[in-house]
Amino acid sequence: MTKKNLNSILRSLPSVEEVLNTPAAAALAAELPRSVVVDAAREAVSRAREHILSSSLTDDDAAEAASLDAVATHACAIARAFFAPSLRRVVNASGVIVHTNLGRSVLADEAVAAVLDVARGYSTLEYDVQGMCRGSRHAHCERLICELTGAEAAIAVNNNAAAVMMVLSEFACGHEAVVSRGELVEIGGSFRIPDIMELSNARMIEVGTTNKTHDFDYERAVTDDTAMLLKVHTSNYRLIGFTESVSAREMRRIADAAEADRRARGVDAPRILVYEDLGSGALLALDNLGSMNEPTAGEALAAGCDLVSFSGDKLLGGPQAGIVIGSAELIGRLKKNPLARALRLDKMTLAALEATLRLYLNPEVAREHVPTLRMLNAPAAAVRERAEALAARIADAVPAECGAVEAVPEISRAGGGALPMRDIDTFAVQLEFKRGGAQDCEEYLIRKNDVPIIARIHQEALLFDARTILNDDEIDEIARACAAYFEQLEA
Ligand SMILES: *Cc1c(COP(=O)(O)O)cnc(C)c1O
Repeated sequence: MTKKNLNSILRSLPSVEEVLNTPAAAALAAELPRSVVVDAAREAVSRAREHILSSSLTDDDAAEAASLDAVATHACAIARAFFAPSLRRVVNASGVIVHTNLGRSVLADEAVAAVLDVARGYSTLEYDVQGMCRGSRHAHCERLICELTGAEAAIAVNNNAAAVMMVLSEFACGHEAVVSRGELVEIGGSFRIPDIMELSNARMIEVGTTNKTHDFDYERAVTDDTAMLLKVHTSNYRLIGFTESVSAREMRRIADAAEADRRARGVDAPRILVYEDLGSGALLALDNLGSMNEPTAGEALAAGCDLVSFSGDKLLGGPQAGIVIGSAELIGRLKKNPLARALRLDKMTLAALEATLRLYLNPEVAREHVPTLRMLNAPAAAVRERAEALAARIADAVPAECGAVEAVPEISRAGGGALPMRDIDTFAVQLEFKRGGAQDCEEYLIRKNDVPIIARIHQEALLFDARTILNDDEIDEIARACAAYFEQLEA
C-alpha cells in the first residue's frame, strides 16, 4: 500500500460519534451503561487504526478494516464482553489434576452443598450453639483437622503462603530461622521463601548447598538467636543425582540438643521450633501412586515437627486455605496474632473445608467423593472407558473428512506442586486434523466456545485427557465444540 493510500484509509476511519450513532451501538447503549459503550467505541476505533498501521494489509482489506460497519461490530463485541462473566467454568482436558490456573481442586458435592447452605442464610460462623453465646470461627474445622492428623490444635487461614508468613512472623520475627539452600524454593511465580522471610522480619540463615545439606550444616548454624529450623517441601521440583537433605526427625534432634546446650550454659534464648512447610499436604497415603508418595501432614508432625502447614486446595482437594497444625500452646499464639484476623477464612470457605474434611473421616468415602482423590486414583481402565466414550462422541459429531479420532495411552500429572516426577498412566482422545489445524482448533475451543475447553497439543494433534474430564456433560460439550469448529471452517 502506498503512503498516500494508507493516509486516506486512516482518514476514512469513523469517529467515535459515528460508531455510537450506528443502530447496533445505539441499541446497546440503551441496554448497557453509556460510558461502557463509549469506551468500547473508542477502543474499537483505536484498535482498527493500530491494526491497519501494524499489518501489511492489501488496500481492500485495510478499507474493510476501517469501515464503519466493521468498527461498530467490533465495538459492540467489546461492550458485550465487558458484561460477560470473567470468572467462569472451564472444561479441563489437560490431564493436570491440581491445575493452579484452572482453580486447583474441584469441590466435592458435599462441600458445594455446605457452601450453598451458609451462603443462602445466616450461619453459626461465630456463634456457639451450646453456650448460646459468641463463638469462634476457628472452632468449625479444628477438631476435624486434629482427628485426621493427630495434632493437638489447628488453625486454617487464607492459603498456605499466608500460613507460612504467619508462622514466621509469630515465631521468628527478629530472630534467626535456618533453612537449607536446597529448599529455597519459588512456587507459582510469587511465593519465594527468601521474600516471605524478609516480609516477616525473620533473619534467614542459609545452610548447605543446592544439592546437599547435612545435619552438621544445621548444627553449625544454630546460635543463641536461632528461633526456628525451617523445612520446605520442594514441591515443584526434584533434585536427582548426588543429593542429601536432613529429615524433620534429624532436625528435631538438632534443635533438642541445641536447647539442652543453652540450658547447660544458663542462656535465656527463644525456643527452637522445627517447622515444615509441607506444600501439598496429603491427609491420606495415596496408596496406588506407589513409591513417590507424599508424606501426610500427620506423618510430618509425628516425625518431630512442632508445626506443619499445608494447602487446602492441593492434594487435600478442598477450597483455597492454609492449615497449620501443632501444639495447643503454639497454635494458641497464632490465633492471637493480628495476621490471623487479616488472613482469616470466610464462611463459604470454612463450610467447604469442614465438609471436605468430614469426608476424610472415612478414607474410602474420601477416595470416592473428593474429586481430586478420585481423579488421582482412577484406574487406567476406567479412564480408558471415558476416553473411548469421548472418541465415539467426537467421531459421531465430526465428519471423517475433517479429522480422525482415537483413544491413546498417555501420561497425566498431579500438578499443584505435588508428585512432580510422578507419571500417572492415563488415556486421552487424540484428534488429528485433515481440515484446519491443532493450534487453530485449540484457540477456537478456548476463545470462541462459551465454556473454554483446555486441551493440549502433541505433534499436530489435539489431546483431550480423559482423567480430568468430570462427567458425560463435559464429554458432550467437547464433542459439540469440535463439531462447531469444523462447521465454522466451512462457512
Ligand atoms: C503450594 C505451596 C505453597 C503455597 O501454598 P498456597 O496454598 O498456594 O498459598 C507454599 N509452600 C509450598 C512448599 C507449596 O508447595
